[in-house]
Amino acid sequence: MMVLTKKMIEIRSILQQVGQSESLTLPAIVVIGSQSSGKSSVLEAIVGHEFLPKGSNMVTRRPIELTLVNTPESKDEYGEFPDLGLRRITDFTSIQRTLTELNMAVPDTEAISDDPIHLTVYSPNVPDLSLIDLPGYIQVVGHNQPLELKQKITDLCDKYIQPPNVILAISAADVDLANSTALRASRRVDPRGERTIGVITKMDLVDPRRGASILNDKQYPLRLGYVGVVSKAPQSQGLFKMGSMDLLSTIVKQENAFFSSHPFEFGADAGVDVGTMTLRKKLMHTLEQTMSASLASTSDAIKQELEEATYEFKVQYNDRPLSAESYLAESLDAFKHNFKQFSEAFGRPQMQELLKEELDQKVENCIKPYKFDIDMDDREWAHGREHVQTVLKKELKDCESAMSNLEASAGGRKKLKEVMAFVDKARKGDIVVEGDGRSGAGGFSAALLTRGREAVFHRDRADILKMRLLAVKSKQCASLKNKYYCPEVFLDAAASKLAATAVLFLNVELLSEFYYNFPRELDLRLGRHLSDHEIERFAKEDPKIRQHLDVIRRKELLELVLDKMESLKQLESRERERRGSV
Ligand code: GDP
Repeated sequence: MMVLTKKMIEIRSILQQVGQSESLTLPAIVVIGSQSSGKSSVLEAIVGHEFLPKGSNMVTRRPIELTLVNTPESKDEYGEFPDLGLRRITDFTSIQRTLTELNMAVPDTEAISDDPIHLTVYSPNVPDLSLIDLPGYIQVVGHNQPLELKQKITDLCDKYIQPPNVILAISAADVDLANSTALRASRRVDPRGERTIGVITKMDLVDPRRGASILNDKQYPLRLGYVGVVSKAPQSQGLFKMGSMDLLSTIVKQENAFFSSHPFEFGADAGVDVGTMTLRKKLMHTLEQTMSASLASTSDAIKQELEEATYEFKVQYNDRPLSAESYLAESLDAFKHNFKQFSEAFGRPQMQELLKEELDQKVENCIKPYKFDIDMDDREWAHGREHVQTVLKKELKDCESAMSNLEASAGGRKKLKEVMAFVDKARKGDIVVEGDGRSGAGGFSAALLTRGREAVFHRDRADILKMRLLAVKSKQCASLKNKYYCPEVFLDAAASKLAATAVLFLNVELLSEFYYNFPRELDLRLGRHLSDHEIERFAKEDPKIRQHLDVIRRKELLELVLDKMESLKQLESRERERRGSV
């Protein structure tokens, strides 16, 4: 029979993903109680782990929708926060920490949020159950809490204890039942006590006779009855946190010892329900009954919802299928297409035009010195002066080494000097060089004459270079103020500026590379490396796509749920037949 509950809980979880409508869910067990009534202790005893937030500072600020999944085929115990994408957390202290953080994220000024936290616990030691833990009722408002806090908690609890949910009303044995906030709340919404289970905690704190009389309460009779428990967790020993079987079995042992020592009040003949194991069984049984009872109405609600989703899909989207992946692929294609168009419309000629325009502007700026004044500072000037000297010295050196080469090839310095003297004279017109120059003149061969001419050129050039160098080195040229007398330095500095400007435009070469690589990179990075989650997030950034996808997903989920519902109904009727035939 338990298979039914499991399947119904599974359906309940899928419906949670569908969200929205209130009628579109299956009942759960809603746990209410005053602060310190022992609510957390009872829940932890049922789960077999300490995992709920602890502390006095209003630690439960959001509803915790807790789904327990019995996994008989596996030894592993772990929790999952599906909304956060946190899977397989085997350390329950870490679950506790996450729950504490999620609750504490609700600011003190608000103190309560009705946005539920979803937690699923898988374990071979838990029963299949869906429980909702709510903030504890408070008696007085703390000094840093909002005044309307009491009302906020009541409103939140009232929202959850509506039919068809089962109410687990926790009251401590050492507090008069007439003062139990949980029972009072339950009576408001379930006046005939038909869907409330009363849990009396701290049975060890009252006289057994008094305890037994509470469980037999006639003042607030409940169809599902009361269960007495002693679920105080033994002090955990710091480092050695107890495993699940240990917590539950310790509590069960503790309860057995207590209840069996008072057989008259709590024994089999006393007609009262006691113990956490009894409570667990009662919860399982009640939840299954309640869920089965709402199956038909929930199924109707799902069908109606599905009809609406199908209609919306048809009318608004013309039954056009869509997935986040296909959207991404289409968007990429469209983008690449546009990009290609752009790159064709904006190529080298356009870039050149832009560049020319820019350069014209820059060049205009750079040649200003010839018209107005160039923007130049001392540092640039000094740098120019230095640089010109280096350039001139190098030129000079080149001249000198050319000279020595010529000396060597002319057969010595003396010989070269003679040729040079001859060339000088011929230049001045003192002598007439006969012949065509190829055959030689003045007793020098043609080759020697050529060397002589070259040597004269180098000598003259070196003279000029030396003069220029002298000018540049002169005191006058040391100062920017005299820039109009020192064209060497000035031109060098201006050239450096031009070069720097030109470099800015060299990047144009990268444009075609970019055009080539960009679409490929896009494919590489977007097409292959995005996770499903990222693809979905991308697709949903477009509100139209988001709506479209949501309708499709809703439709799929509803179809899935309806399918599961149908097979569940078949299972249920087979079960009934089987029981009928026994
Ligand atoms: P909550 O505020 O309603 O969640 O209450 P807790 O479960 O935190 O319990 C409040 C206090 O009562 C804690 O100090 C528990 O140890 C203690 N407590 C819970 N159940 C029992 C019980 O059955 N017997 C005794 N003696 N103490 C209990």
